[in-house]
Parts: sequence; C-alpha cells; structure tokens
Amino acid sequence: VLPGLKDKAALVTGAGSGIGKAAAIALASQGVKVCLLDLKNDRTEQVKEEIIAQQGEAVTLDADVSDPVRMMQAVENAAKSWGRLDIVFANAGINGVLAPIEDMKPEDWDHTLFVNLKGTFLTVKYAVPHMKQNGGSIIVTSSINGSRVFSNFGMSAYSTSKAGQVAFAKMAALELARYKIRVNTICPGSIQTKISENTHPSPELQKIKIPVKYPEGSQPLEHTPGQPEQVGDLVAFLASDASSHMTGTELFIDGAESLL
Ligand code: NAD
Repeated sequence: VLPGLKDKAALVTGAGSGIGKAAAIALASQGVKVCLLDLKNDRTEQVKEEIIAQQGEAVTLDADVSDPVRMMQAVENAAKSWGRLDIVFANAGINGVLAPIEDMKPEDWDHTLFVNLKGTFLTVKYAVPHMKQNGGSIIVTSSINGSRVFSNFGMSAYSTSKAGQVAFAKMAALELARYKIRVNTICPGSIQTKISENTHPSPELQKIKIPVKYPEGSQPLEHTPGQPEQVGDLVAFLASDASSHMTGTELFIDGAESLL
C-alpha cells in the first residue's frame, strides 16, 4: 500500500484506454476516488465498471482536452464529484498525422499541438484553483520522443508537443511549489496501447525509406513494448506521499529504449 492515497480524489485524462486506464485502475486500487475523462464515453464507462467491480470508486466525464470551455466545466465537475481534487494525471494524447515536414499540413500540426500540449496546459490550469488549498500531485505524460529518441521520421509535431510538455511541467513545478503542488513528467518508451488508432502516417511518409537502427519498440530489458500497467504503477507512486520530495523531475520508463 502506498502512503497518502486513501480517500484522495484524482482526475485522469485519456482514461478510456492504455496508460490512462491502467493508471486509473492502479490509483483506485489504492483507495483513490477517480474521475475518468476521455473523448470516448463508452470506454470510460467500461473502466468505471471494472473499478467498481473491484470495490473502487469512479465517475466518468467526457470532454476534448483541447477545448477550453469543455475543460473548465469538466474539471469543475471532477472537483465537485468527490468534494476535492488532489491528483491530476494529464495524460490524454495522440500521435496524430505523421508526415515529412515539407508535407505536414499546418492544420495537422496544430491538431497534435492542441491535443497534447494545449490539452495539458488546460488540464493543469483549471485544476490548480481546486488544488491550491491542500496541495497535491500532478503527473504529465510526455514521451522519450520529447527529449531523447528521434529515430522515427514524420514525428516533428508529436516530438515538439512532447518536449513542450516537459518544459511546461518544469515551469509548473516551480510556480506551484508555493501551493505544495508537485508536478512530475513521465516519459514512456513504446507501450502496448491503442495509440495506433490515433496515428495517421501520410502517403508521403510511407514512400520514404527510413533508416531504422533498431526495430521499433525494441527495448533491452524485455525485447517487447512495455505494458500500460507498468506505467500505471509509476503514476500511483508519483501521486503518493512515497514521492513527497520529488517535483520537476522527468522520469523515463522505457526498458532502456532511450539508450539504444
Ligand atoms: P491510447 O490511444 O490507448 O489512449 C489515449 C486515450 O486518450 C484514448 O482513450 C483517447 O480517446 C483519449 N484522447 C485522445 N484525444 C483526446 C482528447 N482530445 N481529449 C480527451 N481524450 C482524448 O494511447 P496511450 O498510449 O495510452 O497514450 C496515453 C499517453 O501516453 C499519450 O499522451 C501518449 O502520447 C503517451 N505515450 C504513449 C506511448 C506508447 O507507446 N503508447 C509512448 C510514449 C508516450
């Protein structure tokens, strides 16, 4: 059992699938009451049922993290659901359109930056007023693509958004320390999730012969992509008092993929 989690309240974005789902389940198993936010309500309803079946507590919210009006309402509703907000996992994200820079449509670039980067800003912005009284923990999902691994062509918008999240989280750690709100970033390597549903390689990209040094998802530790539950456990640790002196950090969880 991790310290300081029982009866706390969390908001998890992108909670309908993959890393968000696993983190929500990990938090709920530690006694945290969770608000599951996603674009796709049918998915979060299933996660909610799963949590309730394991004697946990959960509610669902549907919103697009890049929409300021919807996010302001959604975070307000999250805080009202349990009468408090202690933990925020800003995790929703997409790979979006992957294209060579000269072929990348400006609107596709904007979409990736809006969901991944502006979405993180909006989630944190609207959560702070509900957290500043009691402090808490914010965790942001970036990626090894944000600072270390630049081996895949076509990911300029994604990698830029993920690097931006790291800078934003560090700034937030500095600014929000006065409210005893900790802010940490996790940088997963390849994790087996549904992210390919939100990945759209352009026809131009598919024509390029990309020099690949190592097969995608190859990780020295396990030779396979990681599992969402492995990331969920890290999120629960960062949400708990076991990490009470950690803020502004950037943690890699990638089976050493970023060292290849
Ligand atoms: P996933 O597709 O399985 O889950 C993401 C969830 O976010 C989905 O349920 C989706 O509906 C939701 N979502 C997408 N856009 C949204 C929006 N605008 N508003 C609200 N919800 C939205 O993918 P995942 O792999 O679990 O991704 C979670 C995070 O992890 C992302 O930020 C991603 O960039 C990051 N990440 C993933 C990997 C990987 O290999 N899977 C590696 C590094 C980082």
